[in-house]
Amino acid sequence: MVAANPTPKRNVVSIGASSAAMGFTLSWKENPPSTHRLILIEVKTHYNWVYAFPRASVKSGFERELFIPYAGLFGYKDDVGKVVTARVTAIHKNYVELDREVPEFGTRIEFDYLLYGAGTTIPQPGRLLSETKAEGISILKQYQKVIRESKQPIIIGGGAVGLELAAEIKEEYPDKQVTLIHSRSRYMARYKQSLDSFTYGILKKLGVRQVMGQRVNLPEGGFPLEVKPVEVTTKTGKKIQGDLAILCIGMTPNSELLGKLSSKSVNKQTKFVKVKDTMQIDDDEYPHIFAAGDVIEHTDVKTGHFAWMQGLTALANILKLINGGSYDDLEPYVSKDVALIKIALGEKEAVMQTNAWGPLVAVGTWIAGRSIPRNL
Ligand SMILES: Cc1cc2nc3c(=O)[nH]c(=O)nc-3n(C[C@H](O)[C@H](O)[C@H](O)COP(=O)(O)OP(=O)(O)OC[C@H]3O[C@@H](n4cnc5c(N)ncnc54)[C@H](O)[C@@H]3O)c2cc1C
Repeated sequence: MVAANPTPKRNVVSIGASSAAMGFTLSWKENPPSTHRLILIEVKTHYNWVYAFPRASVKSGFERELFIPYAGLFGYKDDVGKVVTARVTAIHKNYVELDREVPEFGTRIEFDYLLYGAGTTIPQPGRLLSETKAEGISILKQYQKVIRESKQPIIIGGGAVGLELAAEIKEEYPDKQVTLIHSRSRYMARYKQSLDSFTYGILKKLGVRQVMGQRVNLPEGGFPLEVKPVEVTTKTGKKIQGDLAILCIGMTPNSELLGKLSSKSVNKQTKFVKVKDTMQIDDDEYPHIFAAGDVIEHTDVKTGHFAWMQGLTALANILKLINGGSYDDLEPYVSKDVALIKIALGEKEAVMQTNAWGPLVAVGTWIAGRSIPRNL
């Protein structure tokens, strides 16, 4: 049963309330249009501060700080915006269906414009499958426990999550034999070569055993989260023994939902969502549907700040349409096209690629490390 709409305003809906939606939301709140309100539909009850998950999988005491409640995001002004805790199960041309009844809407929310910001799925603990704060804390504590008990943990994948995790473990437990297996001959290929050299050097100093250029054979169903003898094999036949294997590879775009409405807008091979430079999905049948963030196919590095900027372009264009503009008036997203990153390698060291001082440089310094608070 759908309750009567208490506000005459029409809806702009976002699927997902993470980085792609957050810049959009903060701008919206500053200057909400008089005709529309923003409805963020998010299956998680709390914004997940993923940036600290690798550290919080090893060290305890700040897990609670990494889950920020969505309730109150709009200051309880429902005519400006509202966060609905639910999973979207289907998208139609002008409404979405939910997996549960929610106050005011029931199981269906109508929209004039949609932002698709459903992100990607990566293995835990990079992102967590949990939907509540309590579940999230519990999963992080499970990781802390198995890592504490393990003597020879193996981390598979030298992307940002794997690098951070390996460094955190070795810093907290110097006596453990920590192995990091990476498929390429260098780390962070989208960044400057020197970022790789700094990273390699810091991990070496910490005592992490780094196995480069080896692609791991992944058992079906992945590796169990338990401490027991495990042999990890690689495509070239190398065998690495340990007692715990943690996967830090594999990113799957959450595009299936949109693909059911508009198969045309999803790349069949990569599964990323194809967008026009206006951030509209690449399907002329749905000019009022936009997408931004990790889920889209784009040359931008998949980071929170790019998701944020892309979301802002989508917002600017949606506001134009709300204010009577035509689809021909929409502005293109202009990427800064610069890959920036800061990777904490334990609590004392970090590497970063920055343009804060003008030119783009990669640095690996204890200053960078010490300037990062414990909860990141
Ligand atoms: C460990 C780690 C460290 C990182 N460090 C940095 C960093 O230092 N700097 C940086 O800029 N970036 C960093 N990133 C990358 C950054 O987190 C991502 O680029 C960013 O989160 C992408 O935001 P997004 O909104 O596109 O997608 P996501 O963050 O993936 O969010 C998508 C949201 O959509 C929700 N959702 C999906 N499907 C549905 C549905 N059907 N119904 C309802 N809700 C749904 C999900 O629950 C999720 O909350 C890091 C990532 C990780 C994992």
